[in-house]
Amino acid sequence: MKITVLTLFPEMFSGVLENSIIKRAIAKECAEIEIVQIRDFTTDKYGRVDTPPIGGGAGLVQKCQPIVDALNKIKTPTSHTALFSPRGVTYKEEKAKEYAKLDHLILVCGHYEGIDERVNDYVDELLSIGDYVLTGGEIPAMAVIDSVVRLLDGAISSDSLVDESFNEPILEYPQYTEPYDYNGSKVPDILYSGNHEAIGKWRRKQALLLTKKHRPDLFEKLTLSKQDKKLLEEAKSSEIPDWELKAIEKGHKYIK
Ligand code: SAM
Repeated sequence: MKITVLTLFPEMFSGVLENSIIKRAIAKECAEIEIVQIRDFTTDKYGRVDTPPIGGGAGLVQKCQPIVDALNKIKTPTSHTALFSPRGVTYKEEKAKEYAKLDHLILVCGHYEGIDERVNDYVDELLSIGDYVLTGGEIPAMAVIDSVVRLLDGAISSDSLVDESFNEPILEYPQYTEPYDYNGSKVPDILYSGNHEAIGKWRRKQALLLTKKHRPDLFEKLTLSKQDKKLLEEAKSSEIPDWELKAIEKGHKYIK
């Protein structure tokens, strides 16, 4: 997959593209990322890419010509173009999954006061990353690149994607590392049991409870299985359920 970013600040991307998983994915050719300087496309004799808004108002607005010319050069019949705007649809994991299936995604970053309204006619959609105003579309573009590239084949181990937050409308279960006892807070014993079925059940219960508590909006959208309902029912009691106690007693134990 190829992702092309149109920006006035290409240097901002080096941190994201030259580190960690994204760097590796590019090296392994899972993804090709192209950063295009919008300024290179201006035909203005003074090299301008923005001017004050017509009708008055604060700041500078990016002009149509450099962006549209860049898009006309870069677009292919299979490209999909998203322009970052606080007005756009809110970016979610579902969109990341849609994007990960594309051949070519083009991301257009605004800056300053934004972009001439007429550029909207040359893109497929407007995209927001939340209800707050950033100085530019570069950080949203980085968020999209990061979330899409990690879904591409070979970018990370496919096991890591299985139980993640938002696969279903549910958050991930809690994770633990050594030591067993950190300042009096202990890793749940079930995780040492070696009983994968019981561990899976326990994790599902925690994921359901966390989602219900932290994201009731997601929880409402979740289709609960018979087992989910049972797990939620038993969570109402402070007692450890029988299946969990048995798994802890019969399984391995934490050994110092
Ligand atoms: N004047 C605009 C307004 O009030 O909606 C804000 C412009 S903002 C300072 C400059 C650029 O940053 C926008 O054109 C857009 O590309 C990007 N941007 C800012 N906030 C964003 C958000 N929440 N999601 C996506 N892009 C955003």
